[in-house]
Amino acid sequence: MVIVMSPGATEEQVQKVIEALVERGFDAHRSTGSTRTVIGAVGQTGRADPRDFRLLDGVADVVRISEPYKLAGRTFQSEDTRIQVAGVEIGGPEVVVMAGPCAVESQKQVHEAAAAAAAGGARILRGGAFKPRTSPYNFQGLGAEGLGFLKAAGREHGLAVVSEILDTRDVPLFVEQVDIIQVGARNMQNFALLKELSRVRKPILLKRGMSATLSELLLSAEYLMSGGNRQVILCERGIRTFETSTRNTLDLSAIPVLKSMSHLPVIVDPSHGTGLRDFVVPMARAAVAAGADGLLVEVHPHPEEALSDGAQSLPPEMFTALMVQIRVIVTAMDRTLAQPGAAVDAEA
Ligand code: PEP
Ligand code: MN
Repeated sequence: MVIVMSPGATEEQVQKVIEALVERGFDAHRSTGSTRTVIGAVGQTGRADPRDFRLLDGVADVVRISEPYKLAGRTFQSEDTRIQVAGVEIGGPEVVVMAGPCAVESQKQVHEAAAAAAAGGARILRGGAFKPRTSPYNFQGLGAEGLGFLKAAGREHGLAVVSEILDTRDVPLFVEQVDIIQVGARNMQNFALLKELSRVRKPILLKRGMSATLSELLLSAEYLMSGGNRQVILCERGIRTFETSTRNTLDLSAIPVLKSMSHLPVIVDPSHGTGLRDFVVPMARAAVAAGADGLLVEVHPHPEEALSDGAQSLPPEMFTALMVQIRVIVTAMDRTLAQPGAAVDAEA
């Protein structure tokens, strides 16, 4: 942290700032130029609130130099994190596609969805069993039974599975039933849930909150990592802006920016990012072209019958056509699409 004094700051004001720094355990390094004094603070900046220093008399500005996210940041780990999950690697040269329905609705529906996902070239099956619905009157998901259907459908088609957790009490169930645990946008800052998941030996797919900055997303990743879980996949899924023609505004610039800030894999969810299937396809293509390590796409065997997010779900033929294009883009990016193979049970 660097504290920049205003040009007219007095010696007494400079001394007050130095004293305040020393009191909080920092080493203060003073440098006096021809017009102003700058004080470098060396120490645990994570424990100090820069605003406390901005309030002191004579202070013009306080600038953080190092990021508050140490484990998630590139500064402390330059090489990319690669996550192995049930026979698939995320964050390496391969682009990994995760596809499936918004919600697991029945055994038949999730099996059909798994067949469509596998046929198109997805490696991971998605499907919500516990749904975070805005209204309590909407379909809430099949719960534990749905997770069982999802896992069985995934295994039958050689796919790993990912599903969203809502409640800390369900952690043991998720550890047993899924390969990747999803933390949804609404729970990105559910710190109790993050702390609980930090103790789990399973990859976590962490979605960006709808009004979260990238720095806040990385601090949520830091909660998981500082508790011991280094297997974090970041997911851009659109943020709320003043624009109303799409469900959310898909922030594709988040991909290169997150890649520069962090070593963690970055995937993109163009389904929640746009909200309408016609827009999902071009944004999925764009995400891969912008360097995403993977996609999370909603695919439903019969979208018109879907109990949630039918409008943004791709029917199987649309997903297959998208994957043909994704293959071309992946090649242009000097990458490959993760190849089909049997999903193997990872150790819990
Ligand atoms: C989902 O993936 O089904 C979901 C609810 O996503 P989000 O948390 O991004 O809204
Ligand atoms: Mn959905």
